[in-house]
Amino acid sequence: MKVTDYFKAAEGETLISFEVLPPLKGGSMQAIFDTLDPLMEFKPPFIDVTYHREEFVYKRRESGYYEKTAIRKRPGTVGICASIMHRYGVDAVPHLLCGGFTRQETENALIDLAFLDVQNILALRGDARKFEGKFIPEKEGNNYAIDLVRQIDDMNQGKYLDNLVEDGTKTNFCIGVAGYPEKHFEAPNMGMELQRAKEKIDAGADYIVTQMFFNNDKYFEYVDACRAAGINVPIVPGLKPLTKLYQLNSIPRLFHVDLPDDLVNAISSAKDAAGRKQAGVEWCIAQSKELKAKGAPCLHYYTMGDSDTIAKIGKAVL
Ligand code: FAD
Repeated sequence: MKVTDYFKAAEGETLISFEVLPPLKGGSMQAIFDTLDPLMEFKPPFIDVTYHREEFVYKRRESGYYEKTAIRKRPGTVGICASIMHRYGVDAVPHLLCGGFTRQETENALIDLAFLDVQNILALRGDARKFEGKFIPEKEGNNYAIDLVRQIDDMNQGKYLDNLVEDGTKTNFCIGVAGYPEKHFEAPNMGMELQRAKEKIDAGADYIVTQMFFNNDKYFEYVDACRAAGINVPIVPGLKPLTKLYQLNSIPRLFHVDLPDDLVNAISSAKDAAGRKQAGVEWCIAQSKELKAKGAPCLHYYTMGDSDTIAKIGKAVL
C-alpha cells in the first residue's frame, strides 16, 4: 500500500514509522531484524531503508603511496526491503539516490523494486562524497532529487528511458522527498528551500519527510510556510533522540540543524551516560507528544540501530 494511503486510512490518527540502516558489509540481515523486532509492537505501516553510496578511502600501498579507492560499506537495500516485507508484512520504503547511479541503473533498480511489489520510494539527491567539495552526479545520472522524481513519475506513466518500450507497464510508486525545516545547507534562503520543495511536489512527489529537528516550532513554521507556498502534501516529521555528548557537535555539523539551549543544557549537565540518555529520551518524548497532539500525520524515527531507546519513546507516546 502507498504511504499516503496509510495516512488517509488513519483519518487524522498519528502513525509511527521507522528508518533503518543496512548493516555494514559482512553483517547479516539479523542486525535489521534485531532492530525491528522490538519495534513492531508500535505497528509501523512502513519502514524506510537508507541507501549509502560508495565512499572514497585512501589505502596505503607497500611503496608508501596512498591509493584512492571507492568502497561501499552498506550495500544491499533491495534485498533488505524484500526481507522486511516478507517477515513483517509491512511496506518497505527504499531510499533511492541520484548519486552513484546513471539513469539507466536507476531504471533497472526501479524495475526490480516494482517486481518485488515495493510501492514507495524516498527520492533523494544524496550528499557529496568525502574528499569531494560538492555533489557530483554520475555521467548520465540525475542531478537533483527533482530529476529522480521525474524519472519515477515517467515510469508511473509507463514511460521508460529507451523508445523501444511502447506501452510499458505503468509502475505505481508513491514518491516521498526530503524537506528541511531549517533549510538545506546549500539553499541560499528559506524562500528558495520552499520553491525547490514545491517543484519536487509539482513534478510528482506525494509527501515530504523532514530532516531531524529538535525544536518543534521549526517544524510547525515549516508546515505553515509550505502551505502558504501551495505545498499541500503530508509532511512527516523526522525525529532522532540526541543521547550522547559528542552529538552536541556532530548533529549540527552533519545535519545543519540548531539545538535548543534547554536540550544542550540537559545533556551537558547530566551526571553520566545514563543521565544523558534519559535527558535525550525525555526531550524526544516531549517533542513526539506535542507533534501528535497537533496532528502530525506520522512520527518517523531515525533508529540508528538503537531500538531500545526508540522503544522507550514509542511506549511513552502511544
Ligand atoms: P535536492 O532536493 O536535490 O536538493 C539539494 C540542494 O539543491 C538543495 O539545496 C536545493 O535547494 C538545491 N536544488 C534543488 N534543485 C535545484 C536546481 N534545479 N538548481 C539548483 N539548485 C537546486 N542521504 C543518503 O545518502 N542516503 C539516505 O538514505 C538519505 N536519506 C535521507 C532521508 C531524509 C528524510 C532526509 C531529510 C535526508 C536524507 N539523506 C540521505 C540526505 C540527503 O541526501 C541530503 O540532504 C542531500 O544533500 C540533499 O538531498 P535532497 O534529496 O534534499 O536534494
